Amino acid sequence: MFRSSTRQLGHLDIVGDVHGCLDELLELMAALQYRVERQTEAFAVTLPRGRKLAFVGDLVNRGPATVGVLRLVMGMVCAGQAFCVAGNHDVRLLKAMSGNENLTAPFLVQSLDQLAQEPEEFRTQVAKFLRGLPAYSLFDGGKLAVAHAGLKEGMLGRTTAAVRRFALQGETTGETDDYGVPVRANWATDYHGETLIVYGHTPVAEPLWQNHTVNIDTGCAYGGQLTALRYPERETVSVLARAVHYKSRRRSLVNAALAARMEKA
Ligand code: MN
Repeated sequence: MFRSSTRQLGHLDIVGDVHGCLDELLELMAALQYRVERQTEAFAVTLPRGRKLAFVGDLVNRGPATVGVLRLVMGMVCAGQAFCVAGNHDVRLLKAMSGNENLTAPFLVQSLDQLAQEPEEFRTQVAKFLRGLPAYSLFDGGKLAVAHAGLKEGMLGRTTAAVRRFALQGETTGETDDYGVPVRANWATDYHGETLIVYGHTPVAEPLWQNHTVNIDTGCAYGGQLTALRYPERETVSVLARAVHYKSRRRSLVNAALAARMEKA
Protein backbone atom coordinates (compact mmCIF):
# COMPACT_ATOMS: atom_id res chain seq x y z
CA MET A 1 0.00 0.00 0.00
CA PHE A 2 2.95 2.36 0.56
CA ARG A 3 3.58 3.26 -3.01
CA SER A 4 3.91 6.44 -4.97
CA SER A 5 5.05 6.93 -8.49
CA THR A 6 6.63 9.54 -10.68
CA ARG A 7 5.36 9.49 -14.21
CA GLN A 8 6.51 11.53 -17.16
CA LEU A 9 3.09 12.22 -18.43
CA GLY A 10 1.64 15.53 -19.42
CA HIS A 11 -2.02 15.42 -20.24
CA LEU A 12 -4.52 14.25 -17.68
CA ASP A 13 -8.14 14.76 -16.75
CA ILE A 14 -8.26 14.44 -12.98
CA VAL A 15 -11.65 13.52 -11.52
CA GLY A 16 -12.87 14.40 -7.99
CA ASP A 17 -14.66 12.11 -5.48
CA VAL A 18 -17.03 9.93 -7.54
CA HIS A 19 -18.66 8.06 -4.60
CA GLY A 20 -20.61 5.60 -6.71
CA CYS A 21 -22.10 8.25 -9.05
CA LEU A 22 -21.76 6.32 -12.32
CA ASP A 23 -24.22 8.31 -14.47
CA GLU A 24 -22.48 11.58 -13.62
CA LEU A 25 -19.05 10.03 -14.27
CA LEU A 26 -20.17 8.84 -17.72
CA GLU A 27 -21.59 12.29 -18.49
CA LEU A 28 -18.38 13.97 -17.36
CA MET A 29 -16.27 11.60 -19.45
CA ALA A 30 -18.43 12.32 -22.49
CA ALA A 31 -17.95 16.06 -21.91
CA LEU A 32 -14.19 15.41 -21.86
CA GLN A 33 -14.42 13.50 -25.20
CA TYR A 34 -13.93 9.99 -23.79
CA ARG A 35 -15.99 7.45 -25.73
CA VAL A 36 -17.49 4.78 -23.51
CA GLU A 37 -19.21 1.71 -24.85
CA ARG A 38 -21.23 -0.23 -22.30
CA GLN A 39 -20.85 -3.96 -22.73
CA THR A 40 -22.59 -6.73 -20.80
CA GLU A 41 -20.01 -7.05 -18.05
CA ALA A 42 -17.52 -4.28 -18.77
CA PHE A 43 -16.96 -0.93 -20.43
CA ALA A 44 -14.82 -0.27 -23.50
CA VAL A 45 -13.25 3.18 -23.40
CA THR A 46 -11.61 5.12 -26.20
CA LEU A 47 -9.38 7.92 -24.94
CA PRO A 48 -9.20 11.37 -26.51
CA ARG A 49 -5.82 11.69 -28.23
CA GLY A 50 -2.91 11.99 -25.79
CA ARG A 51 -5.01 12.11 -22.62
CA LYS A 52 -5.71 9.79 -19.71
CA LEU A 53 -7.87 9.94 -16.61
CA ALA A 54 -6.73 10.13 -13.00
CA PHE A 55 -8.97 9.79 -9.93
CA VAL A 56 -8.42 11.44 -6.54
CA GLY A 57 -9.97 8.43 -4.78
CA ASP A 58 -13.26 7.82 -2.95
CA LEU A 59 -14.67 5.95 -5.93
CA VAL A 60 -17.10 4.11 -3.68
CA ASN A 61 -19.89 4.53 -1.06
CA ARG A 62 -22.77 7.04 -0.69
CA GLY A 63 -23.86 7.02 -4.37
CA PRO A 64 -26.12 4.46 -6.07
CA ALA A 65 -23.61 2.59 -8.29
CA THR A 66 -20.45 1.65 -6.43
CA VAL A 67 -20.11 -1.58 -8.42
CA GLY A 68 -20.53 0.14 -11.80
CA VAL A 69 -17.94 2.79 -10.94
CA LEU A 70 -15.50 0.10 -9.78
CA ARG A 71 -16.02 -1.88 -12.99
CA LEU A 72 -15.37 1.15 -15.18
CA VAL A 73 -12.36 2.51 -13.28
CA MET A 74 -10.75 -0.88 -12.61
CA GLY A 75 -11.00 -1.72 -16.30
CA MET A 76 -9.39 1.58 -17.28
CA VAL A 77 -6.59 1.30 -14.70
CA CYS A 78 -5.94 -2.29 -15.80
CA ALA A 79 -5.77 -1.18 -19.45
CA GLY A 80 -3.34 1.65 -18.65
CA GLN A 81 -6.00 4.28 -19.46
CA ALA A 82 -6.36 5.72 -15.96
CA PHE A 83 -4.62 6.20 -12.63
CA CYS A 84 -6.24 6.17 -9.23
CA VAL A 85 -5.04 6.94 -5.71
CA ALA A 86 -6.62 5.65 -2.50
CA GLY A 87 -9.34 7.56 -0.68
CA ASN A 88 -10.49 6.95 2.88
CA HIS A 89 -13.74 5.42 1.63
CA ASP A 90 -11.92 2.99 -0.66
CA VAL A 91 -9.91 1.80 2.34
CA ARG A 92 -13.03 1.58 4.54
CA LEU A 93 -14.79 -0.55 1.93
CA LEU A 94 -11.75 -2.82 1.65
CA LYS A 95 -11.76 -3.26 5.44
CA ALA A 96 -15.51 -3.90 5.43
CA MET A 97 -15.09 -6.55 2.71
CA SER A 98 -12.60 -8.39 4.88
CA GLY A 99 -14.84 -8.05 7.95
CA ASN A 100 -12.54 -5.57 9.67
CA GLU A 101 -14.81 -2.56 9.89
CA ASN A 102 -17.88 -2.16 12.01
CA LEU A 103 -20.86 -1.60 9.81
CA THR A 104 -22.61 1.32 11.50
CA ALA A 105 -22.42 3.43 8.33
CA PRO A 106 -25.38 2.74 6.01
CA PHE A 107 -23.27 3.48 2.92
CA LEU A 108 -20.93 0.59 3.77
CA VAL A 109 -23.85 -1.79 4.13
CA GLN A 110 -25.22 -0.56 0.81
CA SER A 111 -21.87 -1.07 -0.97
CA LEU A 112 -21.45 -4.56 0.51
CA ASP A 113 -25.01 -5.44 -0.60
CA GLN A 114 -24.18 -4.34 -4.14
CA LEU A 115 -20.95 -6.36 -4.13
CA ALA A 116 -22.76 -9.42 -2.74
CA GLN A 117 -24.76 -9.60 -5.98
CA GLU A 118 -21.57 -9.92 -8.01
CA PRO A 119 -19.55 -13.07 -8.65
CA GLU A 120 -16.91 -14.01 -6.11
CA GLU A 121 -14.25 -13.47 -8.78
CA PHE A 122 -15.26 -9.80 -9.15
CA ARG A 123 -15.10 -9.26 -5.38
CA THR A 124 -11.61 -10.75 -5.35
CA GLN A 125 -10.56 -8.35 -8.13
CA VAL A 126 -12.08 -5.40 -6.24
CA ALA A 127 -10.20 -6.27 -3.05
CA LYS A 128 -6.93 -6.63 -4.98
CA PHE A 129 -7.52 -3.31 -6.77
CA LEU A 130 -8.36 -1.41 -3.57
CA ARG A 131 -5.41 -2.94 -1.72
CA GLY A 132 -3.05 -1.87 -4.51
CA LEU A 133 -4.08 1.80 -4.69
CA PRO A 134 -1.14 4.13 -3.97
CA ALA A 135 -1.34 6.76 -1.21
CA TYR A 136 -0.64 9.43 -3.81
CA SER A 137 0.87 9.78 -7.28
CA LEU A 138 3.31 12.21 -8.84
CA PHE A 139 3.10 13.11 -12.51
CA ASP A 140 4.83 15.35 -15.03
CA GLY A 141 8.28 14.92 -13.47
CA GLY A 142 6.99 15.88 -10.03
CA LYS A 143 5.19 19.09 -11.10
CA LEU A 144 1.81 17.52 -10.31
CA ALA A 145 0.68 15.46 -7.32
CA VAL A 146 -2.69 13.75 -6.89
CA ALA A 147 -3.57 12.87 -3.29
CA HIS A 148 -7.04 12.24 -1.88
CA ALA A 149 -6.90 14.64 1.10
CA GLY A 150 -3.82 16.56 -0.08
CA LEU A 151 -0.18 16.62 1.00
CA LYS A 152 1.94 19.01 3.02
CA GLU A 153 5.03 20.46 1.39
CA GLY A 154 7.59 18.29 3.21
CA MET A 155 5.66 15.11 2.42
CA LEU A 156 6.18 15.12 -1.35
CA GLY A 157 8.18 12.09 -2.44
CA ARG A 158 7.94 10.45 1.00
CA THR A 159 5.83 7.41 1.86
CA THR A 160 5.93 6.95 5.63
CA ALA A 161 2.87 5.79 7.55
CA ALA A 162 2.23 9.39 8.64
CA VAL A 163 2.38 10.65 5.04
CA ARG A 164 0.02 7.92 3.92
CA ARG A 165 -2.41 8.72 6.75
CA PHE A 166 -2.37 12.41 5.82
CA ALA A 167 -2.83 11.73 2.08
CA LEU A 168 -5.86 9.57 2.86
CA GLN A 169 -7.59 11.46 5.67
CA GLY A 170 -5.90 14.84 6.13
CA GLU A 171 -5.87 16.21 9.66
CA THR A 172 -8.59 17.40 11.97
CA THR A 173 -8.24 20.30 14.39
CA GLY A 174 -9.50 18.32 17.38
CA GLU A 175 -12.77 20.31 17.41
CA THR A 176 -16.19 19.16 16.23
CA ASP A 177 -18.78 21.30 14.46
CA ASP A 178 -22.45 21.82 15.36
CA TYR A 179 -23.32 18.44 13.84
CA GLY A 180 -20.69 16.55 15.82
CA VAL A 181 -18.45 16.14 12.77
CA PRO A 182 -14.67 16.67 13.32
CA VAL A 183 -13.43 19.96 11.85
CA ARG A 184 -10.80 19.41 9.16
CA ALA A 185 -7.58 21.46 9.27
CA ASN A 186 -6.89 23.51 6.15
CA TRP A 187 -3.35 22.54 5.14
CA ALA A 188 -3.68 24.23 1.72
CA THR A 189 -3.51 27.79 3.14
CA ASP A 190 -0.03 26.95 4.51
CA TYR A 191 1.17 25.21 1.36
CA HIS A 192 3.87 27.13 -0.48
CA GLY A 193 5.31 24.40 -2.73
CA GLU A 194 5.69 24.62 -6.52
CA THR A 195 4.12 21.22 -7.18
CA LEU A 196 0.43 21.53 -8.04
CA ILE A 197 -1.53 19.37 -5.59
CA VAL A 198 -4.90 18.15 -6.81
CA TYR A 199 -7.13 16.68 -4.12
CA GLY A 200 -10.69 16.08 -2.93
CA HIS A 201 -12.03 14.69 0.37
CA THR A 202 -13.72 17.85 1.70
CA PRO A 203 -16.69 18.87 -0.48
CA VAL A 204 -16.78 22.45 -1.75
CA ALA A 205 -19.45 24.15 -3.87
CA GLU A 206 -16.98 25.11 -6.62
CA PRO A 207 -13.39 23.99 -7.30
CA LEU A 208 -11.24 25.69 -4.67
CA TRP A 209 -7.82 27.05 -5.66
CA GLN A 210 -5.44 27.98 -2.83
CA ASN A 211 -1.72 28.57 -3.48
CA HIS A 212 -0.61 25.70 -5.76
CA THR A 213 -3.46 23.41 -4.72
CA VAL A 214 -6.95 22.73 -6.01
CA ASN A 215 -9.80 20.87 -4.31
CA ILE A 216 -12.02 19.29 -6.96
CA ASP A 217 -14.48 17.45 -4.67
CA THR A 218 -17.63 19.34 -5.55
CA GLY A 219 -19.90 16.99 -3.59
CA CYS A 220 -21.58 14.99 -6.37
CA ALA A 221 -22.96 12.42 -3.90
CA TYR A 222 -24.57 15.26 -1.89
CA GLY A 223 -26.33 16.62 -4.96
CA GLY A 224 -23.52 18.98 -6.01
CA GLN A 225 -21.39 18.43 -9.08
CA LEU A 226 -18.75 16.04 -10.37
CA THR A 227 -15.66 17.95 -11.46
CA ALA A 228 -12.56 17.20 -13.52
CA LEU A 229 -9.42 19.32 -13.76
CA ARG A 230 -7.75 19.32 -17.16
CA TYR A 231 -3.97 19.29 -16.78
CA PRO A 232 -1.82 21.09 -17.85
CA GLU A 233 -4.60 23.44 -19.04
CA ARG A 234 -5.85 23.98 -15.47
CA GLU A 235 -9.44 24.30 -16.63
CA THR A 236 -12.25 22.59 -14.75
CA VAL A 237 -15.25 20.85 -16.28
CA SER A 238 -18.24 19.95 -14.09
CA VAL A 239 -21.54 18.14 -14.50
CA LEU A 240 -24.48 18.45 -12.12
CA ALA A 241 -25.48 15.56 -9.85
CA ARG A 242 -28.61 13.77 -11.04
CA ALA A 243 -29.97 13.70 -7.48
CA VAL A 244 -29.11 14.22 -3.84
CA HIS A 245 -27.77 10.68 -3.43
CA TYR A 246 -26.75 11.07 0.19
CA LYS A 247 -27.79 13.54 2.88
CA SER A 248 -24.85 14.90 4.84
CA ARG A 249 -24.90 15.52 8.56
CA ARG A 250 -23.16 18.75 7.61
CA ARG A 251 -26.12 20.75 6.41
CA SER A 252 -23.77 23.48 5.14
CA LEU A 253 -22.39 21.05 2.54
CA VAL A 254 -25.78 20.27 1.14
CA ASN A 255 -26.74 23.94 1.09
CA ALA A 256 -23.53 24.80 -0.75
CA ALA A 257 -24.18 22.01 -3.24
CA LEU A 258 -27.74 23.16 -3.81
CA ALA A 259 -26.64 26.79 -4.22
CA ALA A 260 -24.22 25.64 -6.94
CA ARG A 261 -27.03 23.80 -8.71
CA MET A 262 -29.30 26.84 -8.64
CA GLU A 263 -26.54 29.01 -10.11
CA LYS A 264 -26.00 26.59 -12.97
CA ALA A 265 -29.65 25.82 -13.63
MN1 MN B 1 -15.03 11.75 -0.30
